Amino acid sequence: MPRMPQGKPAGVRCAHLLTDERCELFGRAERPAVCSSLQPSPEMCGASRAHALRWLRALEVATTPPAGPCHRGIIGASHPLHASQGPR
Ligand code: SF4
Repeated sequence: MPRMPQGKPAGVRCAHLLTDERCELFGRAERPAVCSSLQPSPEMCGASRAHALRWLRALEVATTPPAGPCHRGIIGASHPLHASQGPR
C-alpha cells in the first residue's frame, strides 16, 4: 500500500479511501489481495453505511491478533505453531 507502507492498522481509515468512499487503488496492482478478494454481499453491506461499518468492525475484532510481542505465552509451547522449535 503506497500510502501505508507498514499496512493499515485495524480501526484506522485507509489512506487510499477517497473522500467519495471509492478505493484509490481499485484496478491497480498495488491494491492488497485481501481487498480484491473481499466480495460484497447483502449481509455485509446491509441497507446503510452504518450497517457496513458495524460489519467491518466485527470482522476486525474477530481477526485481531493477540496483543504482546509474542503469542507463545498465550497459546502455550505445546501449540502446533511452536512444534518445529523443539523443547526448551
Ligand atoms: S479497498 Fe483496501 S486499499 Fe482500497 S481503500 Fe479499502 S482498505 Fe484501502
